[in-house]
Amino acid sequence: IVAAYVEATPGSAALHAQAAQRLPSGVVHDSRYTDPYPMYTERATGPRKWDVDGREIVDFYGGHGALILGHCHPDITAAAQRQLALGTHFGSCHALEVEWAGLIQEMVPCAERVRFTSSGTEATHMALRLARAFTGKPRILRFQRHFHGWHDHMAFGVDGHFDGSPTPGVLPEIAAEVLLVPPGDIAAVEQALDEHDDIAAVIIEPTGASTGAVPVSAEFLHGLRALTRQHGVVLIFDEVVTGFRVSPGGAQGALGVTPDLCTLAKIVAGGLPGGAVAGRWEILDWLDFDAAAASGREKIKHQGTYNANPVSAAAAIAALTLIRDGDVCERATAAAQALRVAFNQVLVEEGIPWSVYGEHSVLHFFTNPQGMRIDPLDFDAMAQPASVLASDPRKTMLAKLYLALVLNGIDPKGSRGLILSATHGQAEQDWAVAGWRRALRMLKAE
Ligand code: PMP
Repeated sequence: IVAAYVEATPGSAALHAQAAQRLPSGVVHDSRYTDPYPMYTERATGPRKWDVDGREIVDFYGGHGALILGHCHPDITAAAQRQLALGTHFGSCHALEVEWAGLIQEMVPCAERVRFTSSGTEATHMALRLARAFTGKPRILRFQRHFHGWHDHMAFGVDGHFDGSPTPGVLPEIAAEVLLVPPGDIAAVEQALDEHDDIAAVIIEPTGASTGAVPVSAEFLHGLRALTRQHGVVLIFDEVVTGFRVSPGGAQGALGVTPDLCTLAKIVAGGLPGGAVAGRWEILDWLDFDAAAASGREKIKHQGTYNANPVSAAAAIAALTLIRDGDVCERATAAAQALRVAFNQVLVEEGIPWSVYGEHSVLHFFTNPQGMRIDPLDFDAMAQPASVLASDPRKTMLAKLYLALVLNGIDPKGSRGLILSATHGQAEQDWAVAGWRRALRMLKAE
């Protein structure tokens, strides 16, 4: 598989050779690190992209989940181009940020007010600061494997460091402020909240770790809502991926559980850089000059040169309007559901004891080396891939799975699954099923 990949991608190889001299590991995002080297993309449209070697690929990563409307949606492109000609940064307030915030307020249940940031990482950082200021408490409760960006409170407990020990460069004092509990374990949450009266916030990916790879139940979320309310703890839903994807109102809209705060990025900015924290009026008061003056307290500091930049704002308004007024989320979900069924069928036909699972428009691969088929509602079994992932032979196999998929015209979410968009129609689904089968056969032949 590696030899076939090298033969098919000389352009990517050449670019990576240069990149290796300029960028650590030749990449700009840890998840793009690939052995022997990543694929370099030249252009994209709708659900498809073309690499620098002219190979046509169906994109199942969708801008890390940002592109539920596919690449270059005509409305989004036109809005961004119009704005590029009118100015990319005014260094002042503008009408688009007001309209954008209005759409979020209208669509997202918890969003009484909004503060824009430039990324999802910044949004979760701000959400924690808001919760601390609001409660006057220091500690944060998180779940193992739930990803919330890369700032100091989040840079452990996802791919290891489940005990809460810090990764390089993170202060032990900061890591000590974070309590990590097993995903989906309401008793562990209850115990932590009983034992620690200094917890400001609980933050969670509301469909489960890594966009639902380790799912949580709606019952768990309702329990979390009740417990956090009872203990006066701020409940934060990290809807960076799920926002405007699970439903126009995100996971909270679909599940009927309203958090105190939520964080948004990716789709919220129409596929351009941007993010936001949204939530209860009185919590956002900690960013409000007048509220601070009225109460005689100091407000939270927040700047950011590119917050709600006009180009992102224009793209965002176009995207959110399409999502609000159309059936974008439903179409992406239906495409994913069709692929889950078809991919599982291929696994059975090929005699491979894996399974494909997931909800809404995300699909996960369960590639258990023990050959066990698992019940998607068995949370203990679901939690297993992380530990298994740590072993080297498995990493090699997963790296090969990724390369085999890319070689067969599928750009997946790493080796872990697919993210669908509303532009993945029947042709892309057929393409994916055929590519999945060919990739699996390549793996079997290794
Ligand atoms: N939270 C979640 C749930 C995410 O998936 C991500 C990014 N994948 C982030 C936060 C961080 O967002 P960003 O990459 O925009 O900083």
